[in-house]
Amino acid sequence: MQDISKRFVEVFGANPEVVAAAPGRVNLIGEHIDYSDGFVLPFAISDTTTVALSRRQDQVIRIASAQKSTEIVETTLAELIPLTGESWARYALGVLWVMKIDTGVDLLIDGRVPLGAGLSSSAALECSIATAVNHLFKKGLSLAELARASQKAENDYVGVPCGIMDQSVSLMAKSGSALLLDCRDLSSENIPFLIAPQGLELLIIDTQAHHKLVDGGYAERRASCERAVAELGITSLRDISVADYAARQSELDPVTYIRGFHAVTEMKRVLDAVDALKANNFSRLGDLLNQSHRSLRDDYTVSCPELNLAVDTALEQGALGARMVGGGFGGSAIALIKSDQVKRCETAIQKAFSDAGFKAPRFFTSLPSDGARVISN
Ligand code: ADP
Ligand code: MG
Repeated sequence: MQDISKRFVEVFGANPEVVAAAPGRVNLIGEHIDYSDGFVLPFAISDTTTVALSRRQDQVIRIASAQKSTEIVETTLAELIPLTGESWARYALGVLWVMKIDTGVDLLIDGRVPLGAGLSSSAALECSIATAVNHLFKKGLSLAELARASQKAENDYVGVPCGIMDQSVSLMAKSGSALLLDCRDLSSENIPFLIAPQGLELLIIDTQAHHKLVDGGYAERRASCERAVAELGITSLRDISVADYAARQSELDPVTYIRGFHAVTEMKRVLDAVDALKANNFSRLGDLLNQSHRSLRDDYTVSCPELNLAVDTALEQGALGARMVGGGFGGSAIALIKSDQVKRCETAIQKAFSDAGFKAPRFFTSLPSDGARVISN
């Protein structure tokens, strides 16, 4: 962390008062069910965003990022207005706004979470700043309150309608664990996810595909789930078993039925994955990842050729399980794989992508890591 402090001195002319870091995340299982009151099971990756922060005597805010060369964004407390500007610094400004700081600050960011790869560099940024501000301004906020504040910054200041999963896990994660998060009441539980002792790793494959054409797909899928709830007269897809849902198939049109079927089966898969983790049963976990992918591909239809190729190739190379993660239509896939097979798997996926004429993918590996922390002050 000397690094960021040294750079802070170069940029702002004095030592920072506090340095804090927060990680990106991957959702192990539980996709497209946060908006149906479901459970999700993300874990923090080892890559973090680190920030250095100092208070100023005046109302000026200065922000620089190692990922944005030498640009310094300068504004004032009075100019913290939601939904203004297009600058990358909006994510940081949003956190300062929501946490109601009462003096100006100098803020330096160094993000090691790849931007826009579906690993939530935005939450890592928000949560590292929220952690630093909470410490320096003695706000005394709990981790749940910091998660809500970070989400509010992204929702209301930046204007991105994200859920609360990313911020919760970036703040609350524990090394060697995944975080079971109940999207209904935001309660959470750390579930042991000890892959390292088994010689396993999570390979993250960023397909670099972004199929903009089908962006409307998210709203459409969500509307289908809401229609299923309304037509079945239930409170949420959380409140019906797979068997009861299947028994009422004739009450729904085929598309609505199959979308809801993904949601109810995915909710069950998350709870089954928790049981598998508690039993250290990684082949069972792999099966559940595969089932999740098939459900997203065939029932929810949010996958794409690049994601399917990444998943299929990883399985051919010996992965215990693999699935697309995130909203779909591009972004990343994960594969649970033996550490000594990772390189071979990467090479095979690279070749398959090149043969198919796809853009070259990017690879990251990760073990479940700790959430946000204050590093020094
Ligand atoms: P992701 O999936 O990585 O969260 P988003 O589009 O949600 O993708 O967030 C990425 C945005 O967050 C960037 O475009 C930028 O505005 C901001 N951001 C994240 N990390 C940094 C950083 N290290 N420096 C500057 N801006 C960052
Ligand atoms: Mg994001």
